[in-house]
Amino acid sequence: MADDGRKVALVSGGSRGIGRATVLQLAREGFDTSFCYRSDVSAAHEVQSLAKELGARCLAVPVDVADGDSVRAWLAETEAKLGPVEVAVTCAGVTHDQPLVMMSDHEWNSVLATNLTGAFEVCRAAVFVMMKRRRGSVITLSSVAGVHGNPSQTNYSASKAGIIGFSKALAKEVARFGIRVNTVAPGLIDTDMIHAMPERVRKKLLAAVPLGRFGRAEEVADLIAYLASDRAAYVTASVFEIHGGITI
Ligand code: NAP
Repeated sequence: MADDGRKVALVSGGSRGIGRATVLQLAREGFDTSFCYRSDVSAAHEVQSLAKELGARCLAVPVDVADGDSVRAWLAETEAKLGPVEVAVTCAGVTHDQPLVMMSDHEWNSVLATNLTGAFEVCRAAVFVMMKRRRGSVITLSSVAGVHGNPSQTNYSASKAGIIGFSKALAKEVARFGIRVNTVAPGLIDTDMIHAMPERVRKKLLAAVPLGRFGRAEEVADLIAYLASDRAAYVTASVFEIHGGITI
């Protein structure tokens, strides 16, 4: 915790979409935040300014989450500049949709590298420092595709199902160190990731949402902020679906 009582949160993929909304919600709830992004510098600077307007200290660092050395350097920079990290949220994610028989090695490997190895790298670095302090909350991002599967997303669904097994195992491993680990599995949330889908696919998926609309990134961020907080002190090893009732 910083001298002024603010806690510090690490958020991967914080420059856009759900990660961006999470950085801003955590800033509202009294966290200083350090987020990483891959390449979109102007989006990252915008989030950093908005978080500062909300009274938070905020670092924006370009990091490829699949690269362990860069992730460890990001964590070290964060602790040096902001203080001990108490919350880690793994939002960085990509899709490369393709039917399996047409899927290239690159489409398979890059999705697994960012979504699954990336979460592993961020969690490994963050949990190491949390264990020493016997305190922490980790929130990983899965997807309804990881729970139920989605056609043309074998790579993405595998990475997101992997996140669930990874997170439940980690939760059991580190509970005795006072660290909670939970997973959020969103449905269709109105971000750039959804707009990368062909319109006919989006429309078909939307028709399967009983609440009749896409979710908002802020609605997912609210759930993440709850799990980050002490209000969720008895919650661990759990998967929270947030999807408007979608049946895929
Ligand atoms: P998004 O709008 O596409 O944003 C993705 C974020 O991840 C960006 O900040 C991006 O940075 C960053 N990123 C991508 N690859 C990275 C890498 N290798 N290293 C570091 N940062 C990287 O995505 P989103 O829709 O908010 O999704 C956030 C998470 O929720 C993802 O894990 C996604 O799988 C999951 N999710 C989303 C939905 C949905 O409907 N949107 C549904 C279920 C689950 P740059 O802009 O610099 O590339």
